[in-house]
Amino acid sequence: MSQLRLNPLTGRWVTVATGRVTRPDDFSRDRQAVETGPSRPCPFCPGHEEQTPPALETYETSGEWSLRVVPNRFPAFAGTEPMTVHNLGPVFSHAPASGIHEVFVFDRRHDTGWADLDDHHAGVVMAALRDRLEDHAKTTGVRYTQAIVNHGREAGASLAHPHGQLLGMPFVPGEVAEEEAGFRRFTGSCLLCTVAEAERDAGVRVVHDADGVLAVCPFWSGAPFEMLVMPDAHEGHLARAASADLAATGRALCQVLGRLRDRVGDVSYNLVVHTLPHRHEDPFHWHVHVLPRIQSVGGFEQGTGVPINIVDPEQAAATLAPA
Ligand SMILES: [Zn+2]
Ligand SMILES: [Zn+2]
Ligand SMILES: [Zn+2]
Repeated sequence: MSQLRLNPLTGRWVTVATGRVTRPDDFSRDRQAVETGPSRPCPFCPGHEEQTPPALETYETSGEWSLRVVPNRFPAFAGTEPMTVHNLGPVFSHAPASGIHEVFVFDRRHDTGWADLDDHHAGVVMAALRDRLEDHAKTTGVRYTQAIVNHGREAGASLAHPHGQLLGMPFVPGEVAEEEAGFRRFTGSCLLCTVAEAERDAGVRVVHDADGVLAVCPFWSGAPFEMLVMPDAHEGHLARAASADLAATGRALCQVLGRLRDRVGDVSYNLVVHTLPHRHEDPFHWHVHVLPRIQSVGGFEQGTGVPINIVDPEQAAATLAPA
């Protein structure tokens, strides 16, 4: 069972989720990624479906599943208890970590990643995200849903089989609230529509521009080969995006992740989908961050929130640009 605790220094919530770690040596580096093998078959591979809780949703291609959504066995957010904040004295505030935590297994094949998806399937995966977000939006108490993919050990993936997660949360997380504030500060036009225009004009940070989807190494990149992928169609909620734009975004991710692997190497990365919190109608433009985990985060970055990026985004974009 998880609990939210408020950090009064930052005003941000922390989720304390126990139940995952069972032994102190689970923290040792070698155990961070749960390796699978003959004695420990992969629970996400075809034939082992009974090792996960029953699927909430299954997408099929030619009679076999191509994507499964299953509940997370160790949910960080679970239950429907309202987010009532309890104060234990002047500095200890906690609340139930209610919500939804799901895993989406997006490929039958074990040793692949988003870069290996075919065009059709990339569209199916994005459509599945839309369907889940619509479902979460209808769930009382879920205010925001964070969709992510962790690829590789350095990015936090605990299982090698390609999968992502959807975390339906009872509050709007600080990172998203800050982005919403950024959109509000930029008056007169949409911030990301303007970024797309400015990056196309500048031309030196574009890594993909096709079918109404632009991918750039943003001007303000905080990490080597960081990318921002955004549809041209202005829409705050991914759940309201047109199917063609979702499919084109899925294909754009295949292409840029494929080039990242070919030209930089099979590096770990996080995909982070940012969309408006459920039922918000503020200015926003949904997008996907590609955050390669090449450089480790040190004390300065942790202490200040100021990244030091050792590869300038113009150089990164030149490396990742179409041949
Ligand atoms: Zn597998
Ligand atoms: Zn826009
Ligand atoms: Zn964002």
